[in-house]
Order: sequence, then structure tokens, then C-alpha cells
Amino acid sequence: MEYEDPFANALTQLASITDILSVDPEYYEMLKSPIREITVSLPLKLSNGNVVTFTGYRVQHNNARGPYKGGIRYHPKVSLSEVKALSMWMTWKSALIDIPFGGAKGGITVDPKKLTNDELERLTRKYVDAIEEEIGPEVDIPAPDLNTNAQTMAWIMNEYSRLKGHNVPSVVTGKPIELGGSEGRNAATGRGAGICVREAVQSFLHKDVKDVTVAVQGFGNVGTNTVKTLMGMGAKIIAISDVVGGARSKSSSGHFEQSFDELLDRSTKAGSVCKIAEVEEISNSELLESDVDVLIPAALENQITERNATKIRAKLIVEAANGPTTPMADKILGRMGVNIVPDILANSGGVLVSYFEWVQNLNRDHWSEEAVNDRLEGKMKKAFYDVLSYSRKDNIDLRRAALVLAVGRVVSAMRLSGWH
Ligand code: GLU
Repeated sequence: MEYEDPFANALTQLASITDILSVDPEYYEMLKSPIREITVSLPLKLSNGNVVTFTGYRVQHNNARGPYKGGIRYHPKVSLSEVKALSMWMTWKSALIDIPFGGAKGGITVDPKKLTNDELERLTRKYVDAIEEEIGPEVDIPAPDLNTNAQTMAWIMNEYSRLKGHNVPSVVTGKPIELGGSEGRNAATGRGAGICVREAVQSFLHKDVKDVTVAVQGFGNVGTNTVKTLMGMGAKIIAISDVVGGARSKSSSGHFEQSFDELLDRSTKAGSVCKIAEVEEISNSELLESDVDVLIPAALENQITERNATKIRAKLIVEAANGPTTPMADKILGRMGVNIVPDILANSGGVLVSYFEWVQNLNRDHWSEEAVNDRLEGKMKKAFYDVLSYSRKDNIDLRRAALVLAVGRVVSAMRLSGWH
């Protein structure tokens, strides 16, 4: 059976380019292990008086190109292996979208839905107290990820600033606008994924994005903003799922016809997109196996595996999530002729606008939403076409092309700075 340990998968991906990108093996050796792995115990007194100890992580993979950068996730399945994999993917992502950051990731093994807001705030502050020495605007800059948001970032910024004795907005990105957050940051990952869908549909399916059908797995920050962007472009969304379940539109046209705002409002009120009227409830497998042009996994790792890869009917997969396709599934889909826009490209809009936020904070500046979105569009398109041309030139899939470009840039920085 396939090994679905996320870090093992990240290492398999790295190994898949060693025959293409020939660099001194010592660089591959250095890149195989994160530079620092921090595990902290976070005892928290709950409002009922009980004390529960949570485990938190921050893994710093590589900082050859700049400060470590990456989100923090709160989820019951957070593990060291997962955080290590995500930190490595952040190194590649920052390099590929060409911003001066390295890669890191953090997380707490917790189900945030089981904590009160006050407990979550105290847990977040404890986590900052525990890793305070290891983060900072020039050292390691956290951001939101699964189940964390602008409010979480505000607590992190406030706790860090309190410890330092002065206001330090640039220690974290994805903050509320009122506290130095960037316009367009909240929607950035989904917006970037939407741009990749549009360009990939043109390049591979030779169609306009208006003429394609799409299924989206996940309706959190990334999923909702991907759907919003694609609906804005006129794409036909026929199925969506969230943590509760999947929904296929029952409209006569076959796709969701209501406006995005209406769809979000209804699904929020109903408690899930699968509970709104005019949809047929479908399972997670049915969603992934939908008969659509484009499939967008926008939830968790290991969703497309050797078990379901042959059942995928989409012609194009755009990975808005991190690590949704395992290396084994990648091979199967490659043989089936399915093109995959890899995560390190498709979801890099988030960290890109995080970089814009950091630059604005360091300059005490604030850019308009239009300025942010214009720059996002330009950088995403450039990265997309760089990867596409490389893959066509060397006749390799997009994931390997993206990795060769990204790892090559990281190795150059390591070599030039004398990391040997
Ligand atoms: N958590 C996001 C990601 O996986 C954003 C990271 C960041 O902005 O630093 O790319």
C-alpha cells in the first residue's frame, strides 16, 4: 500500500528531479531535512477548570533566499511529519513565485471548534510565548493556514509586540486590515488559483474559462475564494464540498446559478453547502470523481491517491490545497493524460500577497486593492508560463518543471552564500 506520510511524499517529489536538475548531491542532502524543528508543549487551562496539554510545532525548512515564511494550522490531525512536508513545500513555493523568503510551517494539534474563542486566544498566545525567540520580521514570519485567520494573526502580532515592548506588525502576515494587513490578502490564494485555472484551461484544453465545468473540494478560505474568482470569470461550478459533505447543483443548467454572495450566505445559514436547497448531496468520492473539465482540491493532503486516481474524470487538476495528490497518484494521472497544476504554483498567491503585506509593513505603507491584485496577476502569470515553457521544453510534467525551477533557485542561493 502506498505510503501516505506527507513528509515521505515531499521527499519522493524532491527525489523525482535529481535526474533533471544536476547539482552537487550535498545540496540535496541539506534540503532533505528542515534546518530546525521545534516542538512545544502548550498546557491550557480550559474555562471549566481542566488543564489540557496541546502540542505545537514550528518547522523551519530553509532560509537561503530570505526569512522563513509559512502559515500556522490548527487541526486535530496536525503532526510533525505534516508540518515538515508543508515547510518544505513553502520553500519551493516562495522560490517559484520568486519572493525573497524561505520556507517554514507551524501548527497545533487541536480541534479549534471544540475551544471557546477565549481559549483559542490564550492557546495562540501561549504558542507565541513558546516560539518567540524563533520568529520575527527578519527571521520567520507566520501567516494563516487551515482554521486560522486574521483574528489569529492579530493575537500573534499583539503577543509578540507585547513581549518586545513595541508594535511589530511585520512579524506576521494575513492580519486584519486595521492592524496593517494588506488589501486582497484574504482572497489571494483563491484568486491566484483562479488565475492558474484560467491560464491552464487555455493552454491545455484550448478553451475559454467560461466554457468549462469545475468541481471544488473544500469551502474554507481557499475554496470559497477560488469559487468566487471562477464565478467572476464565468466558469461553471457544478459541485462543491465542505467538511460536512458534497453538493451537486440541481439547477437545469447543471451549475450553481446563484451569485457567489448568495451561495456563501445560504451555505453559512444552512451550516454546509450540502444542506442548501437545490443541491443533491454527494460524497467526497463522488465530488472528486465528478465528470468535469477541472477538478480543484482545496482542502487537505492525500485526497487523490492510488486508490481513486483511476476514477478521476477531470482533464485538468489545479491544486489549490497543499499536497492533495500523492506521488503514486501523480504517476497514474500522468499516464492517463491528466494535467496537474501543482500546489507550489497554484496556491502561491497567498504567500505572494503575504510578501506584499510584509513589504508594506516594513515601509509603513498601504497599497490599494487594485495595486495588490495587479501585481498578483502579473507574478502568477509569469510563474505559470515559466513552468509551462519549462515543462514543454523538457517534456516533463508541470510538477517536476515547477520543482526544478524552485529547487534550482534555492540551490543557487545556497551555493552563492557558501552553504557547504
Ligand atoms: N498558508 C499559506 C500557504 O500554505 C500562506 C503562507 C504565507 O502566507 O506565509 O501557502
